[in-house]
Amino acid sequence: MKKNDRDDFKMLKPIATTKEWKLLYYQHGRPGLEESRVSKGLCGSCEIYDICSIVKPVTGIWRCEYYQAKSKKKPNLYENVIRQLEKAEEVIHCDKDICEILAGTMNELVVHFPVKMDTGRVKMLTGYRVQHNNALGPFKGGLRFHPLVDIDEVRGLATLMTWKTALMNIPFGGAKGGIQLDPGDFSAKEIERITRRFTYALGNNIGPEYDIPAPDVNTNPQIMAWILDTYMSTMTPTERNRCSHVVTGKPLESGGSQGRNKATGQGVVFLIEKWAQDHRFNLNRADYIVQGFGNVGSWAARLLKHHGSKLIAVEDVTGAIRKKEGIDPEELADYVQQNGGVNGFPKADPIDHETFFSTKADIFIPAALENQINADTAEILDVRLVAEGSNGPTEPEGDKVLQRRHIDVIPDILCNAGGVIVSYFEWLQNKRSEFWEVEEIDNKLKKIIVSAYERVKNASERHKVDMRTAAQIVAINRLEMVYKERGIFP
Ligand code: NAD
Repeated sequence: MKKNDRDDFKMLKPIATTKEWKLLYYQHGRPGLEESRVSKGLCGSCEIYDICSIVKPVTGIWRCEYYQAKSKKKPNLYENVIRQLEKAEEVIHCDKDICEILAGTMNELVVHFPVKMDTGRVKMLTGYRVQHNNALGPFKGGLRFHPLVDIDEVRGLATLMTWKTALMNIPFGGAKGGIQLDPGDFSAKEIERITRRFTYALGNNIGPEYDIPAPDVNTNPQIMAWILDTYMSTMTPTERNRCSHVVTGKPLESGGSQGRNKATGQGVVFLIEKWAQDHRFNLNRADYIVQGFGNVGSWAARLLKHHGSKLIAVEDVTGAIRKKEGIDPEELADYVQQNGGVNGFPKADPIDHETFFSTKADIFIPAALENQINADTAEILDVRLVAEGSNGPTEPEGDKVLQRRHIDVIPDILCNAGGVIVSYFEWLQNKRSEFWEVEEIDNKLKKIIVSAYERVKNASERHKVDMRTAAQIVAINRLEMVYKERGIFP
């Protein structure tokens, strides 16, 4: 350990409570470790602390978890998103003023709000809503519940939403929100009160024609129904039935759309099909691995199975599993539903994080959190294609490694756009009091996402850049055109 690291480390207190351990567990972002593995004993790296868990990280160096987590700063998604924007701007020489507008967010709301817990005590929570840009239409973006949500993460995710809606040619801007909490620490009733109180605190900062939230990590249709109900309750009786499109990803009965639940995974699979056609690759014999088995990961896994492809490894926050002969995604989805994660799935073997990442397969679908593919994990990935179901899964350093190793990437703003496309359909159906069949939704989704893929591929060939930069270029071009046509008020 370097001297400075040690001095820095000495200032930290040892982990004393479960809560601190949990935070550390999330900060480190490495699943598969349980509290029971925190053992008393001296660690070879920090020596001075007696509560630690010694594990072998991807870098191959044995270190104490505590040392690792505290010495490693959480990668800044917003910085990465801006770096990517600058890379694209250099290629197309975007107008400097417009670049400056696009590099910043428009509105940022941080709310601290009290919520009554089941015990009768009150807890203060922090929630965020960042509205990045609405040049193309109302702000649009998900809402996530996670202990590591912070303003920079939400800024980064909001910015990615602007690129995504611009790239898809749908009339929305970009936003994102989140509440800093671990859903596992709260009962369902508490989550309902938290959701309602946060919605109330947001007030008119959201609205059906202004800013429209949707589900994201650890949020679901039920939570969207609570947002809708709370928002409606603040309206006058005549307005109440005209605002069901204040939120998308609702349950069907509350104005949700057919196909919305599977939409992001469906979009990922439509693009994997397209990539396979372009590369004359037979999906019938393909193996795939998936990180994250929530909404996006589990739907992508289930839909890809219909092509005859074989799921061979999965990792989520509870651990990682593998079976060379294949894991049935339907069975795994049922297991996850009942047990909260893939850990302990009886028809596969447990593996560690490093083994998961180095599993040889044709396709990798990251569908968990951001910054999972870094310079180390990109080096050990043994796949032909990364289809980014999650937002920001690849760090810029990881991206360089993927390019050097000629691993194809379908970038996030293209690959996971199925969710926002079908959210747009839900919004339209609500506005028009219509109800579309799932076949119609799937056909429309496929048309939009595949034509965006074609535009990105053409831009990639025209500018001789990777698919991520090309996707960014198509998005900026559209925004630049709109700003030039309309000018800047006044
Ligand atoms: P989810 O909450 O349904 O699932 C998240 C999954 O990630 C869970 O399986 C969880 O166990 C796993 N996970 C969390 N931390 C992990 C870690 N450190 N290591 C491994 N696995 C971990 O969330 P979701 O809606 O499926 O979203 C997943 C990703 O897809 C996010 O990046 C989200 O922004 C993005 N996305 C979601 C949608 C959507 O419609 N839900 C749309 C576009 C993009």
